[in-house]
Amino acid sequence: MEYHHASEMNGGVSEYLVIESKHNCTCKQEKESKEAADSKKLALIENAYSTILTGLGEDVDREGLLRTPLRAAKAMQFLTKGYKETTQDILNDAIFDENHEEMVIVKDIELFSLCEHHLVPFFGKAHIAYLPNKKVVGLSKLARIVEIYSRRLQVQERLTKQIASAIAEALEPAGVAVVIEAVHMCMVMRGVQKMNASTVTSVMLGRFHDDTKARKEFLTLTLKK
Ligand SMILES: [Zn+2]
Repeated sequence: MEYHHASEMNGGVSEYLVIESKHNCTCKQEKESKEAADSKKLALIENAYSTILTGLGEDVDREGLLRTPLRAAKAMQFLTKGYKETTQDILNDAIFDENHEEMVIVKDIELFSLCEHHLVPFFGKAHIAYLPNKKVVGLSKLARIVEIYSRRLQVQERLTKQIASAIAEALEPAGVAVVIEAVHMCMVMRGVQKMNASTVTSVMLGRFHDDTKARKEFLTLTLKK
């Protein structure tokens, strides 16, 4: 059994930089047209935020709000940057052949996402396990998979499924288990849910689905506080 805590890893920061540098396209024209398209999209979102502020009865020309539409637009683009990334990009050179069949668990991977119904954050932790079938992946890559799918407009159930499917597809393991515990601000702020009450979703594939013992082992190890 390999057992890891997300804090052991360097997070996704260094890998993010690697991926960015890959995108330094050698073709200048392609890069320029991409930049033009990006700034057009940014302007579109910026204008929309201006409209929202006006709709709220705010004065968009008052000092505190002068740069708010642009800042909010950039923040929204950052929070949804997962649309620009694919798991193939990050997993390509990160999968190794290894004769390791024991359960690999990474728990407490932090996640921040936006609920697609209210465009309000939900955040919490993901716990992932897989039973390798010859192929293994660098542990920090599991955190990156979580990031790619959570930095999109989401519902928690789909997010859980997408993470599990991505791992199943890339590693073809004997089983994958993903549990997400998250607090939804759209519920907390409207008083539907208490501050610390979290929503738990899980997806169990392969042996974790079929074998009660494997599932129990994973759940016992991840959900204990
Ligand atoms: Zn919501």
